[in-house]
Amino acid sequence: MVLAELGGRISRALQQMSNATVIDEKVLTECLNEISRALFQADVQFKMVQNMQANIKKIVNLEDLAAGHNKRRIIQQAVFNELCNMLDPGKTSYTPKKGKPNIIMFVGLQGSGKTTTCTKYAYHYQKKGFKPALICADTFRAGAFDQLKQNATKAKIPFYGSYTETDPVKIAQEGLERFKRENYDLIIVDTSGRHKQETALFEEMRQVSVAMNPDLVIFVMDSSIGQAAFDQAQAFKQSVSVGAVIVTKMDGHAKGGGALSAVAATKSPVIFIGTGEHMDEFEAFETKPFVSRLLG
Ligand code: GDP
Repeated sequence: MVLAELGGRISRALQQMSNATVIDEKVLTECLNEISRALFQADVQFKMVQNMQANIKKIVNLEDLAAGHNKRRIIQQAVFNELCNMLDPGKTSYTPKKGKPNIIMFVGLQGSGKTTTCTKYAYHYQKKGFKPALICADTFRAGAFDQLKQNATKAKIPFYGSYTETDPVKIAQEGLERFKRENYDLIIVDTSGRHKQETALFEEMRQVSVAMNPDLVIFVMDSSIGQAAFDQAQAFKQSVSVGAVIVTKMDGHAKGGGALSAVAATKSPVIFIGTGEHMDEFEAFETKPFVSRLLG
């Protein structure tokens, strides 16, 4: 199932339940089973789905609900709340603090929007009074440094990279030393992203992470990635200690159901979403509006 269908399927299951003349145990179970199936097929962790179903059944005890209660609304609200809980990994992510160099490392597949998102993130914090700087440790993709340079120049953010050096660890270290010396307090490193999960990519990422010792590793994920979301997010988490997720291209057709999987796989919260190609098309993530959108 394409993840973008997830929200639609959940909405339809709720609608079908609403259409039933009487909402009894059987109708509720059918509705919850369909929602669970949709989540399973979207690669949401088995345990999370089980918990969700159990929690809803606990809240919506049909026998206890007095005749006057609006069962439909109570069930819909319970589903909404549970989806919010699924997006909440129960811990907050590291947030940059003033007065010290905050080191942030970006990881993700090629094309996910990583380089664009690095600049958006830097720009966001620049507006809050931070002094950001960008390092391009992507020595794999031709043009990666130029792209970062272009974005950074537009935002008037200093950058560091090399056209000739092939060792990303060396670039990362040099950039880090320089920007620390120059008192930048938000040092952001863009790493190589490749087409698929390659051992070499993960090893390189791990080495950059060891060299940088980042305060936060952000996993950037394209919202339209579909079924692969869970596995990919998990693969990244297994190599470096991902602490937050940014979901990009939320302005496209995808409704962003993959975020549920990414949160489950990385046990990290979504902190921002990308909503366009421009620098300021970037929003702090809020669970409730997101779930509303997911459900259409
Ligand atoms: P990278 O390979 O992961 O570094 O990805 P890039 O930053 O080069 O982005 C790939 C493409 O996605 C570019 O054309 C970006 O302009 C575009 N892009 C990035 N974020 C967004 C977003 O939030 N919305 C849209 N519509 N496009 C985006």
